[in-house]
Amino acid sequence: MGAGVGERRASVPPGSGWPGDPAVATTPVATDAAAVRELAQVSTVDELDARVSVCRACPRLVAWREEVALTRRAAFAAEPYWGRPAPGFGPADARIAVLGLAPAAHGANRTGRVFTGDRSGDWLYAAMYRAGLASQPTSVHAGDGLVLHDVRVIASVRCAPPANKPTPVERDTCRPWLVKELQLLRPTLRVIVVLGAFGWQSLWPALAAASLGAVPTPRPIFAHGAEEQVNGLTVLGCYHVSQQNTFTGKLTEPMLDAVFARARIVTESGTESSRGGVGR
Ligand code: SF4
Repeated sequence: MGAGVGERRASVPPGSGWPGDPAVATTPVATDAAAVRELAQVSTVDELDARVSVCRACPRLVAWREEVALTRRAAFAAEPYWGRPAPGFGPADARIAVLGLAPAAHGANRTGRVFTGDRSGDWLYAAMYRAGLASQPTSVHAGDGLVLHDVRVIASVRCAPPANKPTPVERDTCRPWLVKELQLLRPTLRVIVVLGAFGWQSLWPALAAASLGAVPTPRPIFAHGAEEQVNGLTVLGCYHVSQQNTFTGKLTEPMLDAVFARARIVTESGTESSRGGVGR
């Protein structure tokens, strides 16, 4: 599957057999913001995933993700780390998208799959399983067999940032990947569940850049249970599944379940106008 403990690498070489690796050795690599804008002009989600997964446009994040992959957390010292950006995960014709902040250093940056291998993912995928959106309640590593149904998980920034805080420049540099993903998903997309204020704030300029309809002005304020309509899309706000929220009880399982239940109601009703909300 990759380098073992005795041969640590800063990242997994594209096409070297890592489960779910969308890239190959010839996948073009973006090395700056202009290249991201150019290389994001693809026509399929598969090609988008491939190009995202080899991107090197943000020097600080590339250095950080690879340093983490080399040094590793003690508990994972015997495992190779992915050390690359985490592309979206889930079917390209999903009706629901879940938008997070960025990969975790020892989660997706280790396993190569978004929200996989950390406590946040434990919460998220367990809730999706309860909602009938995931084939299993756990998400441990990229080869664990997890399949998502009608939902795709994406992130505003695709590389693990130090202290979970990307800079505004890094967020903006990564935006073309998100814009293109929203455009490619749009034919089937009905609901976007946004985890946390960072994702919420990053979504509106991405929707505007994707030309997916008039974005509300002023921009809607993030709140758990917030619900906005944008040209046939329903945007639902949800507290992030970070340990900071789940350990403290700010976000409970019933609260998370209510958000996914609301998402299912909207998709099953076939209209964004079936208002009801999840409570705040
Ligand atoms: Fe590329 Fe986005 Fe990672 Fe920056 S954060 S290197 S734009 S994938």
